[in-house]
Amino acid sequence: GNLPAGGRIDELLAAAHARALGHHEGAVADYIPILAGVDPELFGVSVVGVDGVAHDIGDSGVRFSIQSISKAFVYALLCEALGHEEVFDIVGVNNTGSAFNSIVAIELNEGHPGNPMVNAGAIATTALMPGDTAEEKWAGIASGLSRFAGRRLEVDEEVYRSESETNHRNRAIAQLLGSYGRIRFDPSAVVDVYTRQCALLVDAHDLAVMAATLADGGVNPETRERVVSAEVCRDTLAVLASSGLYERSGEWLFEIGLPGKSGVAGGLVTVAPGKVGIGAFAPRLDEAGNSVRGQIATAYLSRALGLNIFASA
Ligand code: GLN
Repeated sequence: GNLPAGGRIDELLAAAHARALGHHEGAVADYIPILAGVDPELFGVSVVGVDGVAHDIGDSGVRFSIQSISKAFVYALLCEALGHEEVFDIVGVNNTGSAFNSIVAIELNEGHPGNPMVNAGAIATTALMPGDTAEEKWAGIASGLSRFAGRRLEVDEEVYRSESETNHRNRAIAQLLGSYGRIRFDPSAVVDVYTRQCALLVDAHDLAVMAATLADGGVNPETRERVVSAEVCRDTLAVLASSGLYERSGEWLFEIGLPGKSGVAGGLVTVAPGKVGIGAFAPRLDEAGNSVRGQIATAYLSRALGLNIFASA
Protein backbone atom coordinates (compact mmCIF):
# COMPACT_ATOMS: atom_id res chain seq x y z
CA GLY A 1 0.00 0.00 0.00
CA ASN A 2 0.87 3.66 -0.20
CA LEU A 3 2.11 5.80 2.68
CA PRO A 4 -0.37 8.11 4.44
CA ALA A 5 -0.12 11.86 3.71
CA GLY A 6 2.66 13.84 5.37
CA GLY A 7 0.54 15.38 8.12
CA ARG A 8 -0.75 11.96 9.11
CA ILE A 9 2.83 10.62 9.24
CA ASP A 10 3.69 13.44 11.68
CA GLU A 11 0.77 12.43 13.90
CA LEU A 12 1.71 8.76 13.85
CA LEU A 13 5.35 9.61 14.55
CA ALA A 14 4.27 11.68 17.56
CA ALA A 15 2.15 8.77 18.79
CA ALA A 16 5.02 6.30 18.32
CA HIS A 17 7.36 8.60 20.25
CA ALA A 18 4.85 9.14 23.07
CA ARG A 19 4.17 5.40 23.36
CA ALA A 20 7.88 4.49 23.63
CA LEU A 21 8.68 7.39 25.98
CA GLY A 22 6.78 5.61 28.75
CA HIS A 23 9.29 2.75 28.71
CA HIS A 24 12.25 2.87 31.07
CA GLU A 25 13.45 -0.72 30.95
CA GLY A 26 16.85 -1.73 29.65
CA ALA A 27 20.30 -0.37 30.47
CA VAL A 28 22.83 1.93 28.86
CA ALA A 29 25.93 0.10 27.51
CA ASP A 30 28.87 0.45 29.89
CA TYR A 31 31.53 -1.92 28.51
CA ILE A 32 32.76 1.09 26.54
CA PRO A 33 33.37 3.41 29.53
CA ILE A 34 32.41 6.70 27.85
CA LEU A 35 28.99 5.37 26.81
CA ALA A 36 28.01 4.79 30.46
CA GLY A 37 27.80 8.56 31.01
CA VAL A 38 25.13 9.33 28.39
CA ASP A 39 21.70 10.70 29.41
CA PRO A 40 19.46 7.59 29.28
CA GLU A 41 16.33 9.71 28.65
CA LEU A 42 17.46 11.02 25.26
CA PHE A 43 15.00 9.89 22.62
CA GLY A 44 14.62 10.92 19.00
CA VAL A 45 13.02 9.38 15.93
CA SER A 46 13.15 10.38 12.26
CA VAL A 47 11.37 9.10 9.19
CA VAL A 48 12.72 10.03 5.76
CA GLY A 49 10.86 9.02 2.62
CA VAL A 50 12.47 7.96 -0.65
CA ASP A 51 11.02 11.27 -1.90
CA GLY A 52 13.37 13.03 0.56
CA VAL A 53 10.60 14.35 2.82
CA ALA A 54 11.71 14.20 6.47
CA HIS A 55 9.69 13.88 9.69
CA ASP A 56 11.66 14.37 12.93
CA ILE A 57 10.63 14.25 16.57
CA GLY A 58 12.27 14.56 20.00
CA ASP A 59 16.05 14.44 20.25
CA SER A 60 16.47 13.65 16.56
CA GLY A 61 19.31 16.19 16.27
CA VAL A 62 21.37 14.86 19.20
CA ARG A 63 24.56 13.15 18.04
CA PHE A 64 25.86 9.80 19.26
CA SER A 65 28.34 7.22 17.97
CA ILE A 66 27.01 5.04 15.18
CA GLN A 67 28.65 1.86 16.58
CA SER A 68 27.40 -1.36 14.99
CA ILE A 69 25.07 0.41 12.59
CA SER A 70 28.25 1.23 10.64
CA LYS A 71 28.50 -2.50 9.86
CA ALA A 72 25.49 -2.38 7.54
CA PHE A 73 26.87 0.50 5.47
CA VAL A 74 30.48 -0.69 5.33
CA TYR A 75 29.12 -4.04 4.19
CA ALA A 76 27.19 -2.31 1.40
CA LEU A 77 30.34 -0.44 0.35
CA LEU A 78 32.29 -3.70 0.31
CA CYS A 79 29.62 -5.47 -1.77
CA GLU A 80 29.78 -2.56 -4.21
CA ALA A 81 33.58 -2.87 -4.41
CA LEU A 82 34.00 -6.67 -4.48
CA GLY A 83 30.70 -8.05 -5.72
CA HIS A 84 28.11 -10.48 -4.39
CA GLU A 85 30.03 -13.79 -4.73
CA GLU A 86 33.31 -12.86 -3.14
CA VAL A 87 31.77 -11.20 -0.10
CA PHE A 88 29.31 -14.06 0.32
CA ASP A 89 32.11 -16.64 0.41
CA ILE A 90 34.38 -14.80 2.81
CA VAL A 91 32.05 -13.11 5.28
CA GLY A 92 28.90 -15.28 5.11
CA VAL A 93 25.23 -14.48 5.64
CA ASN A 94 23.92 -16.80 8.37
CA ASN A 95 22.84 -15.72 11.84
CA THR A 96 25.24 -17.02 14.48
CA GLY A 97 22.58 -17.23 17.21
CA SER A 98 25.24 -15.79 19.53
CA ALA A 99 26.05 -12.41 21.04
CA PHE A 100 27.58 -9.78 18.73
CA ASN A 101 31.02 -10.14 20.30
CA SER A 102 31.04 -13.92 20.64
CA ILE A 103 34.34 -15.76 20.26
CA VAL A 104 32.74 -19.19 20.72
CA ALA A 105 30.68 -18.64 17.53
CA ILE A 106 33.90 -18.23 15.53
CA GLU A 107 35.44 -21.37 17.00
CA LEU A 108 32.30 -23.45 16.41
CA ASN A 109 32.27 -22.26 12.80
CA GLU A 110 35.90 -23.31 12.12
CA GLY A 111 37.05 -19.74 12.02
CA HIS A 112 34.31 -18.45 9.75
CA PRO A 113 33.07 -15.04 10.95
CA GLY A 114 29.38 -15.95 10.41
CA ASN A 115 27.82 -12.77 9.04
CA PRO A 116 28.85 -9.12 8.63
CA MET A 117 26.61 -7.81 11.44
CA VAL A 118 28.47 -9.49 14.32
CA ASN A 119 31.86 -8.11 15.31
CA ALA A 120 33.85 -10.96 13.71
CA GLY A 121 32.17 -10.50 10.34
CA ALA A 122 32.34 -6.72 10.56
CA ILE A 123 36.06 -6.82 11.33
CA ALA A 124 36.55 -9.19 8.36
CA THR A 125 34.48 -6.80 6.22
CA THR A 126 36.58 -3.78 7.22
CA ALA A 127 39.75 -5.79 6.47
CA LEU A 128 38.50 -6.49 2.94
CA MET A 129 37.76 -2.85 2.09
CA PRO A 130 39.81 -1.54 -0.85
CA GLY A 131 43.18 0.01 0.02
CA ASP A 132 46.72 -1.21 0.67
CA THR A 133 47.00 0.70 3.93
CA ALA A 134 44.75 1.16 6.95
CA GLU A 135 44.54 4.88 6.08
CA GLU A 136 43.22 4.11 2.59
CA LYS A 137 40.62 1.71 4.00
CA TRP A 138 39.57 4.31 6.56
CA ALA A 139 39.29 7.04 3.91
CA GLY A 140 36.95 4.85 1.84
CA ILE A 141 34.79 4.03 4.87
CA ALA A 142 34.57 7.62 6.14
CA SER A 143 33.70 9.06 2.73
CA GLY A 144 31.31 6.20 1.90
CA LEU A 145 29.33 6.50 5.13
CA SER A 146 29.27 10.27 4.67
CA ARG A 147 27.71 9.82 1.23
CA PHE A 148 25.01 7.62 2.76
CA ALA A 149 24.30 10.38 5.30
CA GLY A 150 24.60 13.23 2.82
CA ARG A 151 27.00 15.16 5.01
CA ARG A 152 30.61 14.80 6.16
CA LEU A 153 30.57 12.58 9.28
CA GLU A 154 33.20 13.17 11.98
CA VAL A 155 34.75 10.82 14.53
CA ASP A 156 34.00 11.37 18.22
CA GLU A 157 37.60 11.26 19.42
CA GLU A 158 36.58 10.59 23.03
CA VAL A 159 34.53 7.55 22.07
CA TYR A 160 37.31 6.34 19.78
CA ARG A 161 39.87 6.68 22.60
CA SER A 162 37.62 5.13 25.23
CA GLU A 163 36.91 2.09 23.08
CA SER A 164 40.52 1.78 21.87
CA GLU A 165 41.71 1.54 25.48
CA THR A 166 39.25 -1.23 26.35
CA ASN A 167 38.59 -3.26 23.19
CA HIS A 168 40.59 -6.33 24.18
CA ARG A 169 37.80 -8.58 23.03
CA ASN A 170 37.69 -7.16 19.50
CA ARG A 171 41.48 -7.49 19.30
CA ALA A 172 41.12 -11.13 20.33
CA ILE A 173 38.48 -11.67 17.64
CA ALA A 174 40.74 -10.11 14.98
CA GLN A 175 43.74 -12.19 16.07
CA LEU A 176 41.61 -15.34 16.02
CA LEU A 177 40.36 -14.55 12.50
CA GLY A 178 43.98 -13.90 11.53
CA SER A 179 45.03 -17.29 12.90
CA TYR A 180 42.45 -18.92 10.63
CA GLY A 181 43.69 -16.94 7.63
CA ARG A 182 40.38 -15.07 7.42
CA ILE A 183 42.03 -11.64 7.62
CA ARG A 184 44.82 -10.93 5.18
CA PHE A 185 45.81 -7.69 6.88
CA ASP A 186 47.41 -6.66 10.19
CA PRO A 187 44.66 -7.57 12.72
CA SER A 188 45.52 -4.66 15.06
CA ALA A 189 45.35 -2.14 12.24
CA VAL A 190 41.98 -3.52 11.15
CA VAL A 191 40.57 -3.25 14.68
CA ASP A 192 41.75 0.34 14.80
CA VAL A 193 39.86 1.21 11.59
CA TYR A 194 36.80 -0.70 12.84
CA THR A 195 36.90 1.18 16.16
CA ARG A 196 37.10 4.49 14.27
CA GLN A 197 34.13 3.61 12.04
CA CYS A 198 32.08 2.76 15.17
CA ALA A 199 32.93 6.21 16.65
CA LEU A 200 31.50 8.21 13.73
CA LEU A 201 28.91 10.67 15.01
CA VAL A 202 25.35 10.63 13.66
CA ASP A 203 21.90 11.71 14.81
CA ALA A 204 18.55 9.99 14.26
CA HIS A 205 17.91 12.12 11.17
CA ASP A 206 21.23 11.03 9.64
CA LEU A 207 20.30 7.40 10.29
CA ALA A 208 16.93 7.88 8.61
CA VAL A 209 18.65 9.38 5.54
CA MET A 210 21.15 6.50 5.47
CA ALA A 211 18.30 3.99 5.77
CA ALA A 212 16.27 5.82 3.12
CA THR A 213 19.26 5.52 0.76
CA LEU A 214 19.05 1.73 1.14
CA ALA A 215 15.25 1.96 0.73
CA ASP A 216 15.74 4.01 -2.44
CA GLY A 217 17.93 1.46 -4.28
CA GLY A 218 21.16 3.22 -3.31
CA VAL A 219 20.32 6.84 -4.17
CA ASN A 220 20.47 9.30 -1.26
CA PRO A 221 17.00 10.93 -1.29
CA GLU A 222 18.35 14.27 -0.03
CA THR A 223 21.48 14.73 -2.16
CA ARG A 224 20.22 12.52 -5.07
CA GLU A 225 23.72 11.02 -5.25
CA ARG A 226 23.98 7.31 -6.09
CA VAL A 227 26.01 5.68 -3.31
CA VAL A 228 25.64 1.96 -4.15
CA SER A 229 23.70 -0.09 -6.70
CA ALA A 230 20.15 -1.41 -6.21
CA GLU A 231 21.54 -4.99 -6.18
CA VAL A 232 23.84 -4.10 -3.29
CA CYS A 233 20.89 -2.63 -1.35
CA ARG A 234 18.91 -5.83 -1.89
CA ASP A 235 21.80 -8.00 -0.63
CA THR A 236 22.47 -5.76 2.36
CA LEU A 237 18.81 -5.70 3.39
CA ALA A 238 18.62 -9.51 3.23
CA VAL A 239 21.54 -9.71 5.67
CA LEU A 240 19.95 -7.11 7.96
CA ALA A 241 16.69 -9.07 8.01
CA SER A 242 18.41 -12.23 9.22
CA SER A 243 21.13 -10.74 11.45
CA GLY A 244 20.63 -7.01 12.07
CA LEU A 245 19.51 -7.38 15.69
CA TYR A 246 21.92 -10.19 16.58
CA GLU A 247 20.32 -13.14 18.35
CA ARG A 248 17.05 -11.18 18.57
CA SER A 249 16.77 -10.89 14.78
CA GLY A 250 13.98 -13.48 14.57
CA GLU A 251 11.86 -11.73 17.19
CA TRP A 252 12.45 -8.39 15.48
CA LEU A 253 11.42 -9.72 12.06
CA PHE A 254 8.35 -11.36 13.60
CA GLU A 255 7.20 -8.15 15.30
CA ILE A 256 8.35 -5.48 12.84
CA GLY A 257 8.79 -7.30 9.54
CA LEU A 258 11.55 -5.02 8.21
CA PRO A 259 15.34 -5.15 7.87
CA GLY A 260 17.02 -3.19 10.66
CA LYS A 261 20.34 -2.66 12.43
CA SER A 262 21.14 -1.62 15.98
CA GLY A 263 24.18 -0.11 17.70
CA VAL A 264 25.22 -0.11 21.37
CA ALA A 265 25.11 3.67 21.69
CA GLY A 266 21.32 3.34 21.24
CA GLY A 267 20.92 3.97 17.52
CA LEU A 268 18.57 1.89 15.38
CA VAL A 269 17.97 2.03 11.62
CA THR A 270 15.08 0.39 9.82
CA VAL A 271 14.46 0.17 6.09
CA ALA A 272 11.09 -0.13 4.36
CA PRO A 273 12.18 -0.87 0.76
CA GLY A 274 10.81 1.58 -1.76
CA LYS A 275 9.16 3.64 0.99
CA VAL A 276 11.05 5.09 3.96
CA GLY A 277 14.07 4.89 6.22
CA ILE A 278 13.57 5.16 9.98
CA GLY A 279 16.28 6.32 12.40
CA ALA A 280 15.86 6.11 16.17
CA PHE A 281 18.07 6.97 19.12
CA ALA A 282 17.45 5.98 22.75
CA PRO A 283 20.38 4.72 24.82
CA ARG A 284 18.77 2.06 27.02
CA LEU A 285 19.31 -1.39 25.49
CA ASP A 286 17.81 -4.86 25.79
CA GLU A 287 20.04 -7.81 26.68
CA ALA A 288 21.18 -8.32 23.08
CA GLY A 289 22.25 -4.65 22.81
CA ASN A 290 19.26 -3.20 20.91
CA SER A 291 17.59 0.14 21.81
CA VAL A 292 14.40 -0.57 23.79
CA ARG A 293 12.53 2.63 22.93
CA GLY A 294 13.83 2.48 19.38
CA GLN A 295 12.29 -0.96 18.90
CA ILE A 296 8.96 0.07 20.45
CA ALA A 297 8.65 3.23 18.35
CA THR A 298 9.66 1.37 15.18
CA ALA A 299 7.18 -1.43 15.83
CA TYR A 300 4.44 1.17 16.20
CA LEU A 301 5.44 2.90 12.95
CA SER A 302 5.71 -0.37 11.04
CA ARG A 303 2.13 -1.23 11.97
CA ALA A 304 0.69 2.28 11.64
CA LEU A 305 2.34 2.99 8.28
CA GLY A 306 1.71 -0.53 6.94
CA LEU A 307 5.40 -1.23 6.34
CA ASN A 308 5.73 -4.94 7.24
CA ILE A 309 7.18 -6.61 4.11
CA PHE A 310 5.36 -9.87 4.86
CA ALA A 311 1.92 -8.30 5.03
CA SER A 312 -0.23 -8.78 1.92
CA ALA A 313 -2.86 -6.30 3.08
N1 GLN B 1 32.08 -0.77 18.71
C1 GLN B 1 31.22 -1.73 19.33
C2 GLN B 1 31.96 -3.03 19.58
O1 GLN B 1 32.71 -3.43 18.77
C3 GLN B 1 30.04 -1.97 18.47
C4 GLN B 1 29.12 -3.04 19.03
C5 GLN B 1 27.67 -2.74 18.84
O2 GLN B 1 27.24 -1.63 18.54
N2 GLN B 1 26.89 -3.74 19.09
O3 GLN B 1 31.81 -3.66 20.60
